[in-house]
Amino acid sequence: MDLAGADPADRWRVYVDVVTGRVIHSEEQVLRATGSGLIFSPNPMVALGAPGLSPADPIPSEAYREVALLDLDDSGFLTGPWVTTEATSAAARIRRPSGDFRVTRENTGFREVMAYYHIDTAQRYLQSIGMAHAAVRVSVDASGSGSGAFFDPNTLVVTLSTGGTPDAEDAEVILHEYGHAVQNAIVFGFGQAAASRPLAEGTADYFAATFFDGVKGGAFRRGLGSWEAAGDGQTGSPPFSRVLDFHGPLGGQPLRLTEFWSGCLWSLRELFGRTRADTLAVGFLSFVPHDGGLADGAISLVAVNRLLIAAGTADRDSEAAIVEMFWERGVDARQGSIRSDVDFPPLPAVI
Ligand SMILES: [Zn+2]
Repeated sequence: MDLAGADPADRWRVYVDVVTGRVIHSEEQVLRATGSGLIFSPNPMVALGAPGLSPADPIPSEAYREVALLDLDDSGFLTGPWVTTEATSAAARIRRPSGDFRVTRENTGFREVMAYYHIDTAQRYLQSIGMAHAAVRVSVDASGSGSGAFFDPNTLVVTLSTGGTPDAEDAEVILHEYGHAVQNAIVFGFGQAAASRPLAEGTADYFAATFFDGVKGGAFRRGLGSWEAAGDGQTGSPPFSRVLDFHGPLGGQPLRLTEFWSGCLWSLRELFGRTRADTLAVGFLSFVPHDGGLADGAISLVAVNRLLIAAGTADRDSEAAIVEMFWERGVDARQGSIRSDVDFPPLPAVI
């Protein structure tokens, strides 16, 4: 008999002994295939070392990288275990039964390839560092109307819009939104309250940027979303949607909460390296309430670090380093509070 599972891509042929009812043999009917595609990683400015490049410019072929698209089903669309682009309108959607998705940005299907590759790669990475509880499958609308990218926690749809620079041409925008999906899988509703919103946004920024630090050179390293920012007309060489090296507020700068939090996480990356920092940045979500604020985030990071110490993957001195990093920025991570002896701006401030 042929059985269809809850997932439409999940079909099995099962041979059953009609006398005993015993399953003799079963085989999965869906062929999991490897396709090929072209991507930006994370954007053509980085690939070309061209901070002044504009989305209006022609993009030379050297800006693209050929990649494998893993575990596609047999539909000819970009559908796999962690992401499908089925939320994209049928008119814009690319279908290649051969598995050859090597198209450039002039073809709207390029946006789907970007979304499929980067989300699939990010999820596989999370599992490789032991974050199996962060497994979440999303559907992507890679050619959304209007402007702005967003994740809907109720439908698990990531919408990447085409206004300005198409969001899907900037891998850091894609992974920022997938970062929200990961957060939501661990603590439902995280970021919907005013207090937790900057934590959610800052964590999503960190999540997006951590994948590309290895390919970014020099001036690109201190921020993210350069391609999106260029499409929005922002200046800078390169321009950034947001930076990762904001240290406020003790330097007298106005407090930008999202960048404050991503800056804290990025400091942990500089202290402990990528894998440990990524583990902390996803791990703290298991301890923070859905409406938790900065101080809750800080004490939750200390809590998950204690688990790493207990597991032998972090040394005992690491807690003091985390506490000191927060203390210098005005947060008491041991008490889970804002330092009383500093003039910390009222919360929440500018996101
Ligand atoms: Zn966001």
